[in-house]
Amino acid sequence: MYKQIDKKDIEYFKTFIPQNCLLIGEEIADDYSKDELGTVKRFPEVVIKAQNTKEISKVMKYCNEKIISVTARGSGTGLVGGCVPIEGGVVIDLTLMNKIINFDQENLVLEVEAGVLLMDIYSHIEPLGYFYAPDPGEKSATIGGNIATNAGGMRAVKYGVTRDWVLALEVVLPNGEITTMGRKVVKDTTGYSLKNLIIGSEGTLGIVTKAYLKLIPRPAKVMSLLVPFETLEEGINKVPQILQSNTDPTAIEFFDRETIIFAETFLGKNFPDANYQSYILLTFDGFDEADVKKKYEKAADLCLNELGAKDVLIVDTDERKDDVWSARGAFLEAIKASTTQMDECDVVVPRAKVSEFIHFTFELAKKYNIRIPSFGHAGDGNLHIYICRDDLEEEEFLRKLDLIFSELFKKAKVSGGLVSGEHGIGYAKKAYIEDILGKSQIELMRGIKKVFDPNNILNPGKIF
Ligand SMILES: Cc1cc2nc3c(=O)[nH]c(=O)nc-3n(C[C@H](O)[C@H](O)[C@H](O)COP(=O)(O)OP(=O)(O)OC[C@H]3O[C@@H](n4cnc5c(N)ncnc54)[C@H](O)[C@@H]3O)c2cc1C
Repeated sequence: MYKQIDKKDIEYFKTFIPQNCLLIGEEIADDYSKDELGTVKRFPEVVIKAQNTKEISKVMKYCNEKIISVTARGSGTGLVGGCVPIEGGVVIDLTLMNKIINFDQENLVLEVEAGVLLMDIYSHIEPLGYFYAPDPGEKSATIGGNIATNAGGMRAVKYGVTRDWVLALEVVLPNGEITTMGRKVVKDTTGYSLKNLIIGSEGTLGIVTKAYLKLIPRPAKVMSLLVPFETLEEGINKVPQILQSNTDPTAIEFFDRETIIFAETFLGKNFPDANYQSYILLTFDGFDEADVKKKYEKAADLCLNELGAKDVLIVDTDERKDDVWSARGAFLEAIKASTTQMDECDVVVPRAKVSEFIHFTFELAKKYNIRIPSFGHAGDGNLHIYICRDDLEEEEFLRKLDLIFSELFKKAKVSGGLVSGEHGIGYAKKAYIEDILGKSQIELMRGIKKVFDPNNILNPGKIF
């Protein structure tokens, strides 16, 4: 269905792409055939390391005319095969488009190219006293990848997700046209929000080349509380009460002792406390010490005196903060390092259903005799559940994985949840979306895709 790339196509790309930015055949590293989880694999025929929007526009225009498939790629840290070119064709790598273009201090807007890394955004604005709130775990992801997946992260409880922080986007459409959706404005009821369609579209509707991000003054003080509970379910069950307590937490994470030990082994350093079976990590921020202290003291009292917490550890020194947050940031990789192969389920359920859902994963682990560790965002209902192969034969693992995924997504449906809270559908989760959303919503999505991309050349085979 798609045209294979031949010498003539390469000759055309060579007319405007410098030689060191055009990778062909053996020059294409293995990384370009997969993402971070590596469950989906296919090599592109050509990789173009784009340096500006015009180059991308020319590539798109040409590929649209020739019906060559094109897939955008940021840092490749995705977990559902979204950046894997399952039809071959061209991969456009955006990581060279990594300039912070302008900080408009009067309007509090940061203008960046799509390949800028999340960590470079933080390090650019935070010393100036400003804050970009989305906080996905993987800081080496590009902002374009964050936008394409509507990345979430830990601070979603208070600040929302990437979509809430994007004011406007420069986008190259599949036919090569360059357009700007949204503006540097706070409100917008100017027709359908095409910008919000692009956010979370996983590179299927257009290629983001530039973003205008909303900033706020940086909260001066951040404190966390590490709160152990007897069991994971007991701790998670208390989260709705914490959310009702008017203490305004920024993040509420849950994890268990086993996950802490994986992280200790992986990082080679100790976590401040691993005496208890399960933990809730609460974070509070504010503009002065007294404000934050009021919040965390109230939450600590609540946890100790009314919610049955075993203890409350204040995470205040730089060293303790580093110990806790470096471990939290390494959980995914630590679980990955603990097994031979794994796959992930990132369902989101109503917050009051998190504990029941985690209990269900314990039952599945017993039923299928397989390890299913988990951790996640108790404050927003988004769970990260890992099915570990360990010493199972690959075929047996894949058989069990299929059955477990089906059960997990059925449970998400009856719990009033959705397939993905933040990692997206990509290729790996597309079998599960229709059962939850229904046929008519999938047809609407197909219709939208057709309007943007009538030849289906942009990241084909993803989402539905
Ligand atoms: C350790 C770890 C922790 C993580 N924690 C979180 C977390 O807390 N929250 C969370 O949401 N995710 C998390 N992720 C997942 C991942 O980091 C995010 O999905 C991230 O947004 C992907 O960005 P990327 O630049 O790596 O994109 P890629 O993986 O390269 O691509 C992801 C998708 O975006 C598309 N895309 C990339 N760039 C563009 C562009 N410029 N225009 C259009 N489409 C584009 C691709 O086609 C693909 O569909 C984590 C991953 C890891 C490995």
